[in-house]
Amino acid sequence: MTSAPNRKTTAPSVLALSGGIGGAKLDLGLYHVLKPWELAVAANTGDDFEHLGLTICPDLDTIMYTLSGTSDEVRGWGRQGETWACLSQLKEIGGSSWFGLGDKDLAVHLYRTELLRQGKPLGEITGNLFASFGIKAQVMPMADQPVGTIVHTTDGRDLPFQRYFVEERCAPGVRGFTYQDAETATPPTALLAMIRGGNLRAIVICPSNPFVSINPILSIPGIREALAASKTPIVAVSPLIGGAAVKGPLAKMLAEMGLPASNRSIADQYKGLLTGMIIDKTDGDDANNQLEMPVLAVNTLMNSLEDRKRLAQDVLEFADRLGE
Ligand code: GDP
Repeated sequence: MTSAPNRKTTAPSVLALSGGIGGAKLDLGLYHVLKPWELAVAANTGDDFEHLGLTICPDLDTIMYTLSGTSDEVRGWGRQGETWACLSQLKEIGGSSWFGLGDKDLAVHLYRTELLRQGKPLGEITGNLFASFGIKAQVMPMADQPVGTIVHTTDGRDLPFQRYFVEERCAPGVRGFTYQDAETATPPTALLAMIRGGNLRAIVICPSNPFVSINPILSIPGIREALAASKTPIVAVSPLIGGAAVKGPLAKMLAEMGLPASNRSIADQYKGLLTGMIIDKTDGDDANNQLEMPVLAVNTLMNSLEDRKRLAQDVLEFADRLGE
């Protein structure tokens, strides 16, 4: 009798918690430096919204277009080679056109919405979509149920995230955030099993906005608790460089809430979870005096694919050292 052939394991070894733009950059780096199936991603869906009767999941789609190499790197969002026939027709007939919906992108929203209407869970639909884009990483929404990030403004309004972000262009001052219906949402079984299973090499909190990308994920019952109890090294990469966000309203939000735009403020959002933190090398002083945990200061600005891969490698090596 011959011995059993070596069985190839296809279980993920690294879990990333991710928002859209900053998150997807590091997801892509990890996807390149790992075997494709070794990466699992839990993605924020607090930004999801209904538009023209369609369910739109901006962060999931950004990750899908990024990992499949079909995103428009110049524009910074949406699909390469996109066309806009539907949107321009909508404009002509006086329809709602404030949200930039390309034709190819539209097909994804149509597909997702149709299956949701048939009662399919978002996680399953997401799995189908990513597979159809040829992506081998296991990318999951943070929950199958809708959870909405609400922005509480200094002028006393409670704005759904897309109204704050797209319609009002982040102009209103921010007092705080809630994650509507999070308490009744359930995390993916596979996600909890992965965190609790103890077989992961690293858990990475991507350089995403804590308030509108990562905290929504942590608000789903069971996820924060599972992470806090995990023995796997948990490493966060700061989305701030020199006290400024690379893109988006994070520094403005921190200031409006009376918090310093510092790596310490980011670490505070993940209290009780982190084994270590990666900050930009220009913020190296924070390592000594601000953050009471192991810190690695490297170049965290990801302009090129090489930058993304190098940072991903730094994250993995740092996590490996922390896990020794
Ligand atoms: P969203 O869901 O589309 O808002 O995207 P994320 O929350 O994932 O990403 C937004 C954050 O990414 C911002 O706070 C940026 O500062 C951060 N970010 C974007 N590009 C980079 C980068 O190259 N390096 C680092 N360190 N942060 C980045």
